[in-house]
Amino acid sequence: GELGVEQQGLVIAHFGQQLDIEALEGETQSQVFRCFVRANIDSLVTGDKVIWRPGKSETGVIVARCDRDNLLQRPDNFGALKPVAANIDHIILVIAPEPEPHDNLIDRYLVASETADIPAVILLNKTDLIGEHNREQIQTLLSRYENLGYQVVQTSAASAQDAPAPEVQELVKGQTSVFVGQSGVGKSSIIQTLLPDQSLRVGAVSESTGKGVHTTTTARLFHLPIGGDLIDSPGIREFGLWHMTPQELEYGFREIRPLIGHCKFRNCRHMGDPGCALDAAAEAGDISPERLKSFHRILQDMTEQQARGLKLS
Ligand code: GDP
Ligand code: ZN
Repeated sequence: GELGVEQQGLVIAHFGQQLDIEALEGETQSQVFRCFVRANIDSLVTGDKVIWRPGKSETGVIVARCDRDNLLQRPDNFGALKPVAANIDHIILVIAPEPEPHDNLIDRYLVASETADIPAVILLNKTDLIGEHNREQIQTLLSRYENLGYQVVQTSAASAQDAPAPEVQELVKGQTSVFVGQSGVGKSSIIQTLLPDQSLRVGAVSESTGKGVHTTTTARLFHLPIGGDLIDSPGIREFGLWHMTPQELEYGFREIRPLIGHCKFRNCRHMGDPGCALDAAAEAGDISPERLKSFHRILQDMTEQQARGLKLS
């Protein structure tokens, strides 16, 4: 009976049974409260908007979850999908000349973004490593994704000293961003430019040593000094798609999506079957051969996994 009035809040971190809620209104706006959750609310994640009531000394009780715009999920160790973060404006997929971008991995990340209904932006980092030997190859790769309608931005975290590079600022300002991409492409370096004085790069620490300073393995929301939010965790950075179904894969390749249902046979597996609409589109130049090859390879991996009884969905 000692609770204050209902008000809006934002989940910024998760610790077992408790969550940190930032007050979004009232006299305590932008203060953080350690809150418990009423038992009748299903799982809350970082980025969720909630209705909560303040209690004594910076505590509170969450009474409801507001509707979500979108939800990022990933499989746990047993293959069950677990929600990770909500209300994300875009996923920034970081790639670099070194380690060399793996086409297939980019496509996997893009499929995951498409099925989560979160726009993806491709951020090429380490432009200082572009030279005669790789310029053409990188340009070809970037054009392929630009032609599909994905925004592509280029930067170099190495040359950003005290402030984030203008193109990175432009990208994240006023948005809720999530950085993903393979290890070594420079995610930590870019985040460091955006959050210079945070000892909060828990992700970086726990990724390399397994021991976080303050082990929050779940996602955490940070306010960026230049405006906008970042949701980050070691898990988020490597979210993938191995739990997906062939239907989700077809949906996740945006140029293949409109072709589904147009193959000669209704049960077409799109693996070189006669009358496959995908092969026809590739022949007509409407799908790039690289993307079709990548689609086939991911589908093949799924089929093999399924055959081994390891399907995780
Ligand atoms: P993460 O694994 O994606 O978080 O990558 P890191 O941020 O840890 O960076 C991996 C390595 O790439 C580090 O040695 C960085 O110093 C280096 N690195 C990051 N950004 C750049 C860049 O723009 N140019 C160059 N040459 N190296 C970079
Ligand atoms: Zn087909």
